[in-house]
Amino acid sequence: MNEFDIIANYFAPLSQSCNGAMGLKDDAALLRINDSYELVATKDALVENVHFFKHDTPANIASKLIRVNLSDLAAMGAKPLGYLLALVMPRNTDEAWLKAFSDSLANECHIFGGALLGGDTVTHDGPLTLTLTALGAVKRDQAFRRAGAKEGELIYVSGTIGDSFLGLNILKKELKNISPEAEKFLTRRYHIPQPRITLGRKLKGIATACTDISDGLAADLGHICECSGVGADITIESVPLSNAARNILSSHPELHPQLLSGGDDYELIFTAGEDKKDDIARIATTLGLPLTAIGRITAGSKVRVLDATGKEVHLSKKGYTHT
Ligand code: ADP
Ligand code: MG
Repeated sequence: MNEFDIIANYFAPLSQSCNGAMGLKDDAALLRINDSYELVATKDALVENVHFFKHDTPANIASKLIRVNLSDLAAMGAKPLGYLLALVMPRNTDEAWLKAFSDSLANECHIFGGALLGGDTVTHDGPLTLTLTALGAVKRDQAFRRAGAKEGELIYVSGTIGDSFLGLNILKKELKNISPEAEKFLTRRYHIPQPRITLGRKLKGIATACTDISDGLAADLGHICECSGVGADITIESVPLSNAARNILSSHPELHPQLLSGGDDYELIFTAGEDKKDDIARIATTLGLPLTAIGRITAGSKVRVLDATGKEVHLSKKGYTHT
């Protein structure tokens, strides 16, 4: 059973009495708090040796923890309000670690907004385990869903794809002889995701469906398709890549399809009608962030990745799952 089957079989039935839980199929849940706003709630866990390396700095671990959750708020178009932190730490955790970790959390709250609201602190003999609940707000009925994409609409992604996957492979020493500048850029993209909070809020009235890319571009586009009851055709050449990623592909072309299934991008993938092209171009210019059309929603039910000649490219693995 993979993680999605577990959620669907054992946990989704428990969400049925709340429409805003969206069957545990979206990035976050929506709870009506008054006539004007909805509360947006999401939670992610990071576990040592699964999501980060034992020797990673406390500052990077704090940044990643808060930013992966903020990415889910961004995918809903929400504004961050606050966080609940559960810290389950090895007994020998020292004060220098706690100081660096909390300083980094404070800095992230300062950058993105929202305060620490509560949590729990536990010591044990196991690995460092962190979970964070992020709460945000969105104007009533304005949150994005994974459902909503329609046949013929364009599919866009923010930023560049695959950097984090390459950064992780460099850290695992599976990719070698990379220039120091490319190594620095790509490993930073792995350690410090850039949650697209401002973009999410600017896409109101423009995007018809949206999610963040945490499991891999193809898998997360698959989630939009499944929830919207549509298919998608994208072209591999149109997927935006950084210069560092392009340089690596020039000597490792076999890695190209894997960039679409690697995961940890924390960019937004969204759909919009053709008539929104100019609005999207304007937002890209305002934010200094590329927003690239990579394909179209189809009447089918599958995500197809096509090459320049229209032939289907098969991805060995559509995305990352943990079980
Ligand atoms: P994301 O990558 O956006 O964080 P996930 O793929 O981790 O989302 O999870 C998919 C959905 O399943 C989300 O709505 C999440 O809240 C829900 N979910 C995952 N695990 C559990 C669980 N143990 N109990 C309840 N809901 C869960
Ligand atoms: Mg998500």
